[in-house]
Amino acid sequence: MSDEFDVVVIGGGPAGYPAAIRAAQNKLSVACIDEWKNYDGSTAFGGTCLNAGCIPSKALLESSELLHRAQHEFKAHGIQVGEVGIDVAAMQKRKATIVRQSTQGILALFKSAGVTPLQGHGRLLPGLKVEFTAHDGAKRTLQAKHVVLASGSQPMELKSAPFDGERIVDSWGALEFDDVPKRLGVIGAGVIGLELGSVWRRLGSEVVMLEALPDFLPMADAQVAKEALKHFGKLGLDIRLGAKVTGAKVSKGKVTVGYADDKGEQSLAVDRLVVAIGRRPYTRDLLAEGTGVEVDERGFIKVDDHCKTGAANVWAVGDCVRGPMLAHKGKEEGVAVADAIAGLYAEVNYKVIPSVIYTAPEIAWVGLTEKQVKESGRACKVGNFPFAASGRARAMEAPAGFCKVVAAVDDDEILGVHIIGPMAGELIAEAVLAMEYSASSEDLQRTIHAHPTLSEALHEAALSADKRAIDFPNR
Ligand code: FAD
Ligand code: NAD
Repeated sequence: MSDEFDVVVIGGGPAGYPAAIRAAQNKLSVACIDEWKNYDGSTAFGGTCLNAGCIPSKALLESSELLHRAQHEFKAHGIQVGEVGIDVAAMQKRKATIVRQSTQGILALFKSAGVTPLQGHGRLLPGLKVEFTAHDGAKRTLQAKHVVLASGSQPMELKSAPFDGERIVDSWGALEFDDVPKRLGVIGAGVIGLELGSVWRRLGSEVVMLEALPDFLPMADAQVAKEALKHFGKLGLDIRLGAKVTGAKVSKGKVTVGYADDKGEQSLAVDRLVVAIGRRPYTRDLLAEGTGVEVDERGFIKVDDHCKTGAANVWAVGDCVRGPMLAHKGKEEGVAVADAIAGLYAEVNYKVIPSVIYTAPEIAWVGLTEKQVKESGRACKVGNFPFAASGRARAMEAPAGFCKVVAAVDDDEILGVHIIGPMAGELIAEAVLAMEYSASSEDLQRTIHAHPTLSEALHEAALSADKRAIDFPNR
């Protein structure tokens, strides 16, 4: 096998593998190196996203949501079932199958595109060389014309509550529980905390979440965050804000967590503790001396707006560089870099990266919040439409939440869209497309939406920005 490639990608997660496939589509010779190992020692492409993130979490969210609906919603439909329960082993088996299908799919995609998969560790050496160490220890040095670094991220650990892999776990550990903890503690009420807290709460755990900040979901639109907190409270998530964790101790199979809030020192006893306080870039043993690639004080590989590092023909994409840690952001960067290497037009529009939190109700947004627009000094108008006024949402027994459109007063451009409610993560795609093309709220108003659909709520929210909504009183 040749050791010379046009492109060597280090990292086969959702940033690295699309870069490899697009580079191959662009008729370049490509190798993709990935070192991921699962708990059982098996290797797999797909990185955090496929093995321990997006895909397994969504599998468990779906299973637990179905259980919750069977227990709490079926009655309203007149559906009579006996006692409904969960077989955790079967649920986990289904999740593992979905993960395996997804990761094996990448190998099939590589084969079809002509990408050479290499499983083991990659290390960038000076002169666009990459040292590859296979899992059996065998070493090769590859020569590349371009190198794409896509080494991803890892969970942050809390020094005072270190992971033990059993009682105090990271998000991956929380996806693997083989029984439902009676009492579950979660440190961090961010995206992972809310998604995985929802999973185990719906399956029966008492869940207490300790969040250091005084505000809930500060990155979301304030109106959405307020609505979300109300629904998570109804689900039974006990979210304690302004809680500063002082430490956690494991003893006799229980975890005692100490924290301080405005009422003073507190203590919480749980069966398991999930620490989900953010992720940090992962670059361990990735860069040899003298490559010219720089890392910033937080550990991110330094890149410009086009994902170029300081070293000629070395690029970096995904969670290991600045920007939101989202699979689709990494994918766009990977694809853009592979196109740029081939001399094609490539650009990532960082202003329109959607965010989705896959809870129930689901939360999704793109662009600026109302507060951010106001702080920018630009006058804006806001349209709101509640799902309670949507016939489709009522038919789905899902009337919670609303769509919100924030548009500029001067030229009517849509500046942000915020949704909490059924299928918010799917609905946001229309807003992303509209904003990608700099659409005005009038463009959305004039677009025909099928009836009865959830997307009508977005249409009506755009109309409401000009006080022209039909299906809800304009205020
Ligand atoms: P990674 O997916 O981390 O992949 C990097 C790969 O590179 C890994 O396989 C790693 O082993 C390998 N690697 C690292 N260094 C080397 C080396 N030197 N040599 C060889 N291989 C190396 N994002 C979303 O957009 N939507 C979601 O719903 C979502 N859910 C999530 C749920 C959870 C529980 C978690 C933890 C994350 C979730 N994310 C989600 C975030 C998402 O998983 C990440 O943003 C995404 O995986 C980043 O992709 P990446 O390719 O940059 O890095
Ligand atoms: P996050 O940044 O979303 O949330 C971490 C939370 O922990 C924050 O609210 C923070 O204030 C809090 N926190 C930090 N230190 C704390 C402490 N000592 N005590 C108590 N609270 C503390 O991070 P995450 O939830 O760990 O997720 C990591 C990354 O994974 C995120 O960037 C996210 O984008 C990505 N992710 C995305 C999805 C999705 O797109 N649906 C799902 C899961 C994860």
